[in-house]
Amino acid sequence: MLWLVSRSSELVVTDAGRRDLIGSTGDITDDDLILRFPNLQLTRDSAAIYRGRLRRRLLLNRCSSCGVWHDPPSPICPACWSREVAAAEVQGTGTVFSVIFLYQGPPTEGVDYAVPYPVVVIELDDQAGLRTTGTVVGSPSAAIRIGCRASLEWIERSGVPMPAWRLKTGGRS
Ligand SMILES: [Zn+2]
Repeated sequence: MLWLVSRSSELVVTDAGRRDLIGSTGDITDDDLILRFPNLQLTRDSAAIYRGRLRRRLLLNRCSSCGVWHDPPSPICPACWSREVAAAEVQGTGTVFSVIFLYQGPPTEGVDYAVPYPVVVIELDDQAGLRTTGTVVGSPSAAIRIGCRASLEWIERSGVPMPAWRLKTGGRS
């Protein structure tokens, strides 16, 4: 298995096939990707997803054989076991599946635990059961409820784009 990992500021590339490892095409180099996400372990299964984030595109892995999406990233489709898996862009709409509020945590740019800080799981419209986690922007805590409709909105956090969610008025639709 091919691995590319970032440990602190040390860059470790453990395979000569680096270009294949994270699909280095376009204007975001492998080194860019590692440097922009220094605290993440990037693998061949997740690199395209984070490359998409830098382009403000929310990608998840999808099976090219049967069409099933899955997350977290895996090299094998959980539905048909095909290895024909590739990152694809989701629609960016969904429904709040669960919500928690953080009253404390590590100091983080843009996070105010006194508000408190909301973390939601969004069930995406692309597929039943396909969920992603993020925060909510533009709504008071009391308005963030299970069943609310939400749409993707990009914010900046620590110098990189981060997917967040803005609630649509009117609740479930
Ligand atoms: Zn499949």
